Amino acid sequence: MTPESTLRADIVEVGRRMYNRGYTASNDGNISVRLGADRLLMTPKSVCKGFMTPDMMCITDLDGKKLQGDRDPSSEMLMHLEVYRQRADVQAVVHAHPPTATGFAVAGIPLDRAVLAEVLTTLGSIPIAEYATPSTSELPEAVRKYIKAHDGMLLANHGALTVGTDLYSAYYKMETIEHFANISLVARMLGRENLISRDEVLRLQGLRGTYGIKAPAPICATDDGANADPADCQVVQAPSSGGARLVADVIRRNSDGAGSNDEAEIRLTYRELSQLIEDAIRSLR
Ligand SMILES: [Zn+2]
Repeated sequence: MTPESTLRADIVEVGRRMYNRGYTASNDGNISVRLGADRLLMTPKSVCKGFMTPDMMCITDLDGKKLQGDRDPSSEMLMHLEVYRQRADVQAVVHAHPPTATGFAVAGIPLDRAVLAEVLTTLGSIPIAEYATPSTSELPEAVRKYIKAHDGMLLANHGALTVGTDLYSAYYKMETIEHFANISLVARMLGRENLISRDEVLRLQGLRGTYGIKAPAPICATDDGANADPADCQVVQAPSSGGARLVADVIRRNSDGAGSNDEAEIRLTYRELSQLIEDAIRSLR
């Protein structure tokens, strides 16, 4: 078991990295680790995560009662407690507001498309937990739906949450989410997102065992996420046939290679089409 002094120093280091990378501003974000079977070591409320010292941390029990520390525990303690309650395997919880991932959380766009092999083998999919008022008991309720099957999720209009079997693995998942969000944003700005086929997604899932990756749930690869429960599996959008795309080029070129807008064909997912219709109806009112 890792000594308490090492865990305190690790929390300070992870907080510094999060702040330096712009994942948190001001006093945002919070970090906790298990300290034995029935205690947690946690960042205190109202401190900048970039300038913490090991003596600032709080120790609480699994009900959130403070056992030690000059400061009060994190304002998001209830969310952390809920994760430890639901996941006996989790040793550490990290919460931050990385800007690109949080942009996806604000736009209501989950990071659940089969795009990057590494993300599929590690996190699988990154859903969005419904909006809840920060620091209230609503937030743990929103997280509960997804935490059994996911090691990382976005929090609608708020930020992101990751968990791991140690603090660094939880923190690296936060890095992976922000990195994935940045890549997804660039691909979408370029106007094309080629998706990995369903067969390949299942092959990648098979590699988890080879790499010793312990995912909390299997991947459910579907065309649109229908008929898959995010409480039981990691829902990923992946086309059933190889090379197919759920999100095609915005303009499909004519056979002579010219991209005439008059002749252009636009292909949309069902969700995008529904959104367009909704927007059109709203503008008529
Ligand atoms: Zn937050």
